[in-house]
Amino acid sequence: MALEVFEKMWNDVLSTGDFTLGKAVTEFEERFAKMCGSKYAIGVANGTDAIKLPLKMCGVGPGDEVITAANTFVASAGAIVECGATPRFVDMCEHYVLDSYKLESAITEKTKAIVPVSFTGEPCEMDEVLRVADKYKLHVVEDNCQGVLASYKGKFLGNFGIAGAISLHPLKNLNVWGDGGVIMTSDDEMNRKLRLYRNHGMFDRDTITMFGLNSRLDSLQAVVGNYLIDSTPGNVEQRRRNAAYYDMYLKDVPGVFIVPRRTHAVSSFHLYFFEVDEAIRNDLYQYLLDAGIEAKIHYPTPLYLQPGLQYLGYKEGDFPVADRQAKRYITLMTDEHLNQNQMYYCVSKVREFMCNKPQEKYLY
Ligand SMILES: *Cc1c(COP(=O)(O)O)cnc(C)c1O
Repeated sequence: MALEVFEKMWNDVLSTGDFTLGKAVTEFEERFAKMCGSKYAIGVANGTDAIKLPLKMCGVGPGDEVITAANTFVASAGAIVECGATPRFVDMCEHYVLDSYKLESAITEKTKAIVPVSFTGEPCEMDEVLRVADKYKLHVVEDNCQGVLASYKGKFLGNFGIAGAISLHPLKNLNVWGDGGVIMTSDDEMNRKLRLYRNHGMFDRDTITMFGLNSRLDSLQAVVGNYLIDSTPGNVEQRRRNAAYYDMYLKDVPGVFIVPRRTHAVSSFHLYFFEVDEAIRNDLYQYLLDAGIEAKIHYPTPLYLQPGLQYLGYKEGDFPVADRQAKRYITLMTDEHLNQNQMYYCVSKVREFMCNKPQEKYLY
C-alpha cells in the first residue's frame, strides 16, 4: 500500500472519530483471512487474547487441563491460566516445538484442549496433533503467534484446529505499531461467537447476548496492518532466505548443530536457532554479544521451570529435551532488513569462535 493511501486511511479514522472496530478493522480482517487461507479472521487486542478467546468459546474453564509446550513464550500457557484452566506440558522435539508423539502421555480425564505452539515459526507435526485430538475429542487452538504463513503439508498454520492465534506485536513477522492480534477460523459458529465475545457480548448497542470482553483490534493499528500486510509474504520469504544463508554457512562449522529441515513443514523463521555443546554455549553467546551481534537465548530457563509456575508441580528433569536444548541453543535474528554483510559477519563470528582462529573478514 502506498504511503498516500495509508495517510488517507489514517486521516479517515481521525476525521470520523471511528476509533473502535469500523472499516479499517473489517478491511484488515478480510485481507488477513485471504492471505492465510482461513474463512474468517477476527481482530483482537493481542496475541494472548487470540489464544484465550477461542479456548473460552470452546468452554475451557476451571477444572480443565490444556496441553501445551514445555518451552515457549509465557503467553501460550498464560492464556490457558486466564481461562481458569491448568496448563499441562509436553516435552519438545528437535524442531523446538512440542513433541506431538508425546501428547498422549499428558492426557488425563480433565484434558479439554491442545495448544500446539509454532515456536520460532516451526510447525508441530500437525497430523499427529489432529490424530490425538480426534481420538480423545479435544479442541485444538493453535498458538501460531510466531508462525504467520508457516505451513504444514501445503496448508498455512492457523487452519488446523478450531482456531489459530496470531500476534501483531512489534517483534513479530507482521507487526503493527503497538499491540494487536488476529484469530483465524473457518468455523461459522466460532466466528460468530468470537465477534460477540471480543466486544462485550454486544450484538448491537441495545442487545447483550452474553458477558464478553473488551478485546478489540485498535482501529488505528488496523490501518497500520493494512499498510503493512502486503509486504508480509515477501518478508517471510526474505526471512527464509536469511535462514537458508545461515544454514549454508553454519552447517560445516565444527561443533555447530542445525536441525535437519523438513520439506513438509515450512517455518516462517521468526527466529533462527542453532546449538552448540553446553560447555561452551555461554562463552559463544558472550562472544557474539561482544562482537555487537544481537544474539539471544529463548529461553535460558524453559517455561515449565519458571518460578511463577512452581505451583504446577514440575521439576527439573521432567522434560529432558527442553532442558538439554535450553543449555545448548542460541538465537540469531532473521529480520528481513538484514543485509548479507551483516549475516556474513554473524556466521563468521560463530566460525571464528568455534575454530578458535580468525576467519577472512568479508566475502563481499
Ligand atoms: C508473542 C507471543 C504470544 C503473545 O502475543 P502478544 O501479542 O504479545 O500477546 C503468544 N505466544 C507466543 C509463542 C508468542 O511468541
